[in-house]
Amino acid sequence: MTSRTALLLHTAGLATKYLETIADRHVGALASGDDLRRQLAVPLSDTGEPETAVIDALALAGALGTVATQGPRYYGFVVGGSVPAATAADWLVSAWDQNAGVYVLSPVVSVVEDITAVWLKDLAGLPAGWSTGFVTGCQAANFTALATARQHMLTKAGWDVEANGLYGAPWLHVVCSEESHYTIFNALKLLGLGAERVTKVPADEQGRMRADELARTLDALAGPTIVCAQAGNVNSGAFDPIDEIATITSAHGAWLHVDGAFGLWAAASPARAHLVKGIARADSVATDAHKWLNVPYDSGVVFTAHPASHRRAMTLSAAYIIESAKERDPHEFVPEESRRARAVPVYAAVRSLGRHGLGDLVERCCQLAARLANQLRADSRLAILNDVVLNQVLVRLTTGPDPDAATRAMVDRLQQDGTCWASGTTWHGMAALRVSISNWSTTEADVDRTANAITRCTGS
Ligand SMILES: *Cc1c(COP(=O)(O)O)cnc(C)c1O
Repeated sequence: MTSRTALLLHTAGLATKYLETIADRHVGALASGDDLRRQLAVPLSDTGEPETAVIDALALAGALGTVATQGPRYYGFVVGGSVPAATAADWLVSAWDQNAGVYVLSPVVSVVEDITAVWLKDLAGLPAGWSTGFVTGCQAANFTALATARQHMLTKAGWDVEANGLYGAPWLHVVCSEESHYTIFNALKLLGLGAERVTKVPADEQGRMRADELARTLDALAGPTIVCAQAGNVNSGAFDPIDEIATITSAHGAWLHVDGAFGLWAAASPARAHLVKGIARADSVATDAHKWLNVPYDSGVVFTAHPASHRRAMTLSAAYIIESAKERDPHEFVPEESRRARAVPVYAAVRSLGRHGLGDLVERCCQLAARLANQLRADSRLAILNDVVLNQVLVRLTTGPDPDAATRAMVDRLQQDGTCWASGTTWHGMAALRVSISNWSTTEADVDRTANAITRCTGS
């Protein structure tokens, strides 16, 4: 056995042990930054150290310094875990070490991207002719979609933004919801469109953009316009009325972008697909694979109804880049050039789950969220602040003179307790515990333990 083979097998042993014990460990991290620096900040040697010693040191630090997001009771930030086939495929990606920029550098990755794009569009209910880019996450997907929107709308207005930038460009209106995710505003900032030069449309009590207010807003605007809607609010899980919004944006000739970081996958469950009705009428859609599709980081996907604009927004050719006339050159659809073969774990996840497997994963998480909400409602001290339409549950402790402080203390106790991990948030000015169920391995028993832990951590 070569030393490389021995090292990789040894590492596989450490990784599988980590995953086999993940469901039983304290869900939050148990090591502090100082603890981890004490373990890892060794003086850098001149001559290097044995590879096994380096890997062992990392594995040891990871045992306490990771957060158990791969486990069944991690409910923070809508992160998901990764299904076994996706983790395994990610190992292959590291072993292959392919540059997924152009076809000639990796035919297999180019072909896998094409196939995966077809599957994802089918699962999400998007037209087969749309373009697809595999990016690092939904932030990058929102950026890519809005760069495409900027190029498309300004070209229609007679302006070449790729050549001339925004200096002297026609005014481009951007309309968001007051509940749009902050990564939309970050993307606008990066694109020179301004995070604050945005018209915000009011949302209703669940966080859904109000279509009547959008119509009123667009009636008052003339010229090229981009509208950003959302499928899946990070707090409540609520969906903007996309079909109604699409009718309004198409009447105004505006570009409709939908941020569906996790909510897009409601489309995979027949029982929830109505939530994204009208999604195929959008001009661009951004989503994550590393959240609800349960693939490893980093993995997001952007889809657009305008492949030529998408390409033009993302590419500038260099003389030495050999592009293929027939095959997909993945870099044409993303901001990066050299890049990881991140579509490969997505391919493995989707193929191993199948259409019904993915639908069941999504539906199961939603039903578990409803189960948790029902159990918590039985405790009169707790209130559920949102309509549980998807996988998100907002919980508030209503006791005492200061329910905000009581809720925050409950969140702290819960995180210390370690049975599960969820973060605090603020919803309509009220402190709340935000539980997001998006891991493939969460079971009813996990939810029951979670409900017990939350009740135990009310502190009264
Ligand atoms: C998580 C999230 C994002 C950002 O996605 P990243 O993968 O963190 O880049 C954008 N929009 C919504 C609605 C999200 O939930």
